[in-house]
Amino acid sequence: MEKELTTLTAKPPAHDVTDLGLAELGAGRIEWAAREMPVLSQIRRRIAKEKPFAGLRIGACLHVTTETANLALALRDGGASVALCASNPLSTQDDAAAAIVARDGISVFARKGEDRDTYYKHIQAVLDTHPQITMDDGADVVTLLHTERRAQLPEVKGGTEETTTGVIRLRAMAAEGVLAYPIVAVNEARTKHMFDNQYGTGQSGIDGLLRATNILIAGKTAVVCGYGWVGRGVAVRLKGMGAIVIVCEVDPLRGLEAACDGYQVATVAEAAKRGDIFFTATGNLNVLGKDHFPLMKDGAILGNVGHFNDEIEIPALEKLASSKRTIRPFVEEYGVGGKSVFLLAEGRLLNHAAAEANPAAVMDMSFSNQVLAIEHILRSTLRPDVYSVRPEDDALVARLKLAAMGMKIDQMTEAQAQYARSWKAGT
Ligand code: SAH
Repeated sequence: MEKELTTLTAKPPAHDVTDLGLAELGAGRIEWAAREMPVLSQIRRRIAKEKPFAGLRIGACLHVTTETANLALALRDGGASVALCASNPLSTQDDAAAAIVARDGISVFARKGEDRDTYYKHIQAVLDTHPQITMDDGADVVTLLHTERRAQLPEVKGGTEETTTGVIRLRAMAAEGVLAYPIVAVNEARTKHMFDNQYGTGQSGIDGLLRATNILIAGKTAVVCGYGWVGRGVAVRLKGMGAIVIVCEVDPLRGLEAACDGYQVATVAEAAKRGDIFFTATGNLNVLGKDHFPLMKDGAILGNVGHFNDEIEIPALEKLASSKRTIRPFVEEYGVGGKSVFLLAEGRLLNHAAAEANPAAVMDMSFSNQVLAIEHILRSTLRPDVYSVRPEDDALVARLKLAAMGMKIDQMTEAQAQYARSWKAGT
């Protein structure tokens, strides 16, 4: 017998999505993702009983994906009313958005490919629900609340931040003394950045490249700008698929680490001449810029897996280019000095735009940390500041994940534990 996937809610809540008719498709894909999210499922079952979020209004600005849908469902089962908008105009999975509106009665304001105006209108729509907890991926909600909607600040108990660049911005706000409520930096959990950023984007970045271009990686020279967690993940996978990898860095330790990991290390200006494929993963701006495009080989392919569409200096590329055309979906050909340079996904997050973002198995850990972080905020009286995830929550997520993978680890014996604590043992 065919399994019933969706039960449409009688009256959908406030929403703005592309097509509610996609709900059936989305429901299947959300269920598929849930199979890879055993830790979140376990936490969801617990909070469905305990209801730690009873009566709580949560406003979330995250990539609207099947994985985020599972997070929203967990929060709802924990008692919260959730309103969700996109943290990037290109990353929304329209079917997932439709499913949680139509089937689960969750408010979603997100359409894949929305323009800048609509993007911000959608964040405003979430803020119109007067969230008591904010969830950000890039600090856009926090920024709006601290600029245009300050009157709402006293209503907010706390927030969470999912990504590296968002945390950097929040720390800047805290240092200036302008941050008005406590925020947990979920990205700082080791079970988040070591897995989501490294293994997740490492794989989905390549997935985006391949879906957009279908090129053979073996034998190509690939340049990875930035050797943080994301850059490391992408570089090792490119190497594994037979590319010659050049890493560009500004941090001498990371540069040295890349060299000892077996990569060539070079300046962007040098690498620009040699690369066939370029990935930016720095979280900074104009990493590939006006001085670099003219140096590139004919056919160079540029993709970004870092924070935003300013890692590649697109206005400079537009200015330099004598021609521009879409040669296939997500691939734009720019004519630069008689050569062609190909820009993927408008320089936006390639793994989100051209592929399906990071796989559920890593988002399982990131989003479990999100739930635990909100529980922690509600239990504590934190002053306005940026907080790390509690080490015990991080360890719990790792323990549950390993167990779900069917793997066991050892425990120190009492003698070992004592040895590890002692400073008197000598040689
Ligand atoms: N908000 C910024 C950049 C952050 S993208 C922007 O879009 O411009 C990086 C973040 O996306 C990571 O921290 C990761 O946790 C999140 N992410 C990756 N795959 C995801 C998925 N499948 N669902 C939801 N979020 C995802």
